[in-house]
Amino acid sequence: MKRRIAIFGSTGSIGTQAVDVIANNSDIFSLEVLSAHSNADLLIAQAKQYHPNIVIITDESKYEKVNSALENDNIKVYAGEKALVDIAGSDTYDVLLAAIVGYAGLASTLAAIEQGKTIALANKETLVVAGDIVTAMAKEKNALILPVDSEHSAIFQCLVGENNNPIEKIILTASGGPFLGKKPNYLINVKKDHALQHPNWTMGAKISIDSASLMNKGLEMIEAKWLFGLQNEQIEIIVHPQSVIHSMVQFEDGSMKAQMGLPDMKLPIQYALAYPQRVKNDFKRLQFKNYPSLTFEPADIKTFRNLALAKDAMFKGGNSPCILNAANEIVVEAFIKNKISFLEMSDIIETCLEKLTFIEKPSLNDYIQSNRETRDFASSLIK
Ligand code: NAD
Ligand code: MG
Repeated sequence: MKRRIAIFGSTGSIGTQAVDVIANNSDIFSLEVLSAHSNADLLIAQAKQYHPNIVIITDESKYEKVNSALENDNIKVYAGEKALVDIAGSDTYDVLLAAIVGYAGLASTLAAIEQGKTIALANKETLVVAGDIVTAMAKEKNALILPVDSEHSAIFQCLVGENNNPIEKIILTASGGPFLGKKPNYLINVKKDHALQHPNWTMGAKISIDSASLMNKGLEMIEAKWLFGLQNEQIEIIVHPQSVIHSMVQFEDGSMKAQMGLPDMKLPIQYALAYPQRVKNDFKRLQFKNYPSLTFEPADIKTFRNLALAKDAMFKGGNSPCILNAANEIVVEAFIKNKISFLEMSDIIETCLEKLTFIEKPSLNDYIQSNRETRDFASSLIK
């Protein structure tokens, strides 16, 4: 039996790479569902090439275009956010690759977990916003969450075969992004074009800005906490500019395992989709001779304040990470639109964390409301 895959966010950086991985392994995977927000042209092209059973366009104004283009292709076309939730909860697929960016990925991922589906999770924001609820529901419904984020895939791969041997700590590696080594007097002037240029990875716009500001590593700390059931103190960050060691686990006997490879998201995508199988491929191989030195340095959290803010939010807990995430989504969008400067992003996130109501044990509805209130408040701080 082939594994039936749904890709939510199929037109994005992760989504398009996942489509390739599936197409190259059509003996073990079948592509059943594709979704996109507004890139109707690419969604139509993917549908015509790979013939899924279902496509979803969440931007309803694009429905007519997609529907008429696929009229004769025997593909069901749905529109709107609710369609994501409905299809996520249906028996039309086995594994959901959650590759929507941001808070927008939460509801459909929860709907899939509710049905006990396997989730290949790229959408880290889901765990940042509501990690306690998401992981508790996954446990209750026996839904497996397999990380796609390269650092978390690395840790997951290090843990396979360890039979719950206790972890002393995990070490998440960070590339440092395009502004590694820079100070505030440089960052004050940087523009989006520079921030979008990551030295090692090609990614969607939001995560590229997050990588430049180190918010990505902050979100990944919180993601790791929930994925691996860790205490806050067990999570460390180290800057490793070559992005060859994808992360490390240290066990209670002091032994440390690392997972290594070239920076290529197709590998963690393939690993999550095919888990527990390792599938032969022709991806470029890591050669040590091309990396005569692997280097490590502490993160500069005085300059890259987002990492400090994320760490504080993780330690404070409750709805703080949800506020952090919502504020971050608003400021990243504003930075991309040249409405605020690079350093103002941290100022606004900090103000949101100070001003919005703290809830110690939030319900799902509390998270939904915190997200909405934070977005409104953060937007009001942007002229
Ligand atoms: P992207 O911007 O390239 O793609 C996002 C996808 O989500 C697109 O298909 C888009 O149509 C869809 N989308 C956007 N807004 C939506 C909305 N409101 N409703 C429904 N769908 C919507 O992003 P990406 O870089 O592929 O990242 C996707 C997720 O994977 C993010 O959470 C990111 O943090 C995570 N991730 C990405 C990478 C990477 O290399 N790109 C690595 C690790 C983790
Ligand atoms: Mg990552």
